[in-house]
Amino acid sequence: EREGPVESRETRLRVVLRVRPLTCTETRRGDRQVVHSLGDGAVHVSVSAARHDATFGFSAVFDAGASQEAVFEGSGMRQLVELAMDGFSCTVFAFGQTGSGKTYTLMGPLSQSETRPASPALLGLMQRSFTCLLEQSRSRGSDLALSASYLEIYNEQIRDLLSPGPPCALPLRWSKTRGFYVENQLSVEFESLEAIVSLLLQGSQRRRTSAHALNRHSSRSHALLTIHIRSRAVSAHPAPGEGWGEGLCETHGEGGTLCFVDLAGSERVKETGSSGELSVEANSINRSLLALGHCISLLAKPRGKRTHIPFRDSKLTRLLARSLGGSGVTLMVACISPSSRCLSETLAHCITPAVPG
Ligand code: ADP
Ligand code: MG
Repeated sequence: EREGPVESRETRLRVVLRVRPLTCTETRRGDRQVVHSLGDGAVHVSVSAARHDATFGFSAVFDAGASQEAVFEGSGMRQLVELAMDGFSCTVFAFGQTGSGKTYTLMGPLSQSETRPASPALLGLMQRSFTCLLEQSRSRGSDLALSASYLEIYNEQIRDLLSPGPPCALPLRWSKTRGFYVENQLSVEFESLEAIVSLLLQGSQRRRTSAHALNRHSSRSHALLTIHIRSRAVSAHPAPGEGWGEGLCETHGEGGTLCFVDLAGSERVKETGSSGELSVEANSINRSLLALGHCISLLAKPRGKRTHIPFRDSKLTRLLARSLGGSGVTLMVACISPSSRCLSETLAHCITPAVPG
């Protein structure tokens, strides 16, 4: 049977799946590969020999053999960059449990000690999008101003990853004209690939070297890098092409945005022990991911059937309200491990984004 067709009639939300290869550790300890791509956006999960297996549908599936370039081209990321250039609020999420390949997909294999990404072939969706954005910006010949902000949400506190000072929590405000916004967040203009990549790396370094336990911290926080595209000459373009973004046509005096979200690990956070810190953390992650999942599943419904979308339920969803609602276009990249040991999380992830409510 085929569950959860993701390719909704909506053109504002697209969900693709990326299955990473088994790691050496997984292979060595004898984990089985339980996820297989069937082509045409279908994926097969061998649940167990005794029970019947499950097949899930996505807009596209990238298996272990898929290159970073294939993911960029096949996920629709290039079109998303173009839509942002045309003035839309575009968001790409990497979603999945810790170790499933979210950071790899967005940035490539950046390890703790690395300050530069590895070979060009391994560059992630972010660097590829920056290149595309700068090319587009040059070829359109208009005077566009590009700037970036980079925030982290940890325990429902917002921190500026571009700010050189000691970490401090920034307030999230709301105004009639701007919607939700972060007070005093830095926005840094850039004109070259080197400049934006350097901002990304500085911010990511700050995220990793936080005062909290290193690995746990980065897998327990959400990181949002937003590119703001402001055109000095205001114009209203109809969205190009068929399918994705089709029919979206609104005036965007404020310019487009392109937001990359590396979400906290979506594994069920166990509330073992009585440590207050751990349970605050667990609660805030579960709350924001639940809130996001809820908003996404409502957005995936056909327009007429949509009810109120509860963006106010977490800081993450408040920050993303403009891009998820309104005229936003969203790409979700669900990342999973093919290992038999990750089966229960994998099934939860296949089902969560795939079933629209
Ligand atoms: P996450 O950010 O979801 O916690 P990572 O991106 O850090 O996960 O990936 C976990 C490990 O798996 C890293 O060592 C990473 O280099 C590796 N990895 C992830 N995806 C791939 C892939 N598609 N191909 C090769 N290695 C991968
Ligand atoms: Mg990560």
